[in-house]
Amino acid sequence: MTRAEIIALQTRIGSKPDGIWGDVSTAACKRHLRALMPTPNPWPTGDDTSVIARFGEPGDEEQLVGANVRGLGVKYEGQPVKTIRCHHLVADSLVTAITEIAATPARWILAEYAGCFNCRPMRGSSRLSKHAWGIAIDFAPSTNGLHTHWPRAATMPIEAMEAFARQGFLSAGAFWSRDAMHFEATR
Ligand SMILES: [Zn+2]
Repeated sequence: MTRAEIIALQTRIGSKPDGIWGDVSTAACKRHLRALMPTPNPWPTGDDTSVIARFGEPGDEEQLVGANVRGLGVKYEGQPVKTIRCHHLVADSLVTAITEIAATPARWILAEYAGCFNCRPMRGSSRLSKHAWGIAIDFAPSTNGLHTHWPRAATMPIEAMEAFARQGFLSAGAFWSRDAMHFEATR
């Protein structure tokens, strides 16, 4: 993000708008997003035991449904996307978040949808990512890659993180400062 964009972001999350993103802004951003989350949060903590207890075994395609996102501007490699294959427990939340994003300036991320269900280990690790359960989704990877710091370099808009927070999802950019393309149904 540019300095002006970081100042706007700091203003929005209630941090000192000095254009310098550090630990204070990171903490303010997490507080801002957590305040938007439902109480109690419907999703488990991110450890495998809790995720399996809520969503079942990773890679179980019986749990998947096609969430209808027709007409919301979601595109994969330039082609319009009608359904997103995801875990049945998160389908309504995903559609709600995407519908909200489609009505904000963050809507451009939807044209760069980059996947939901995918049974593979996390990059650089033997652990499974939340994509293996169909409970994680990626947008705008070209400017929000794994090693691109959010928000100094990565561009994921706060409006997208807010829409997912209202569904109880964590955004990787705000909570881990990296992989800002990624949102997941854990708390
Ligand atoms: Zn991801």
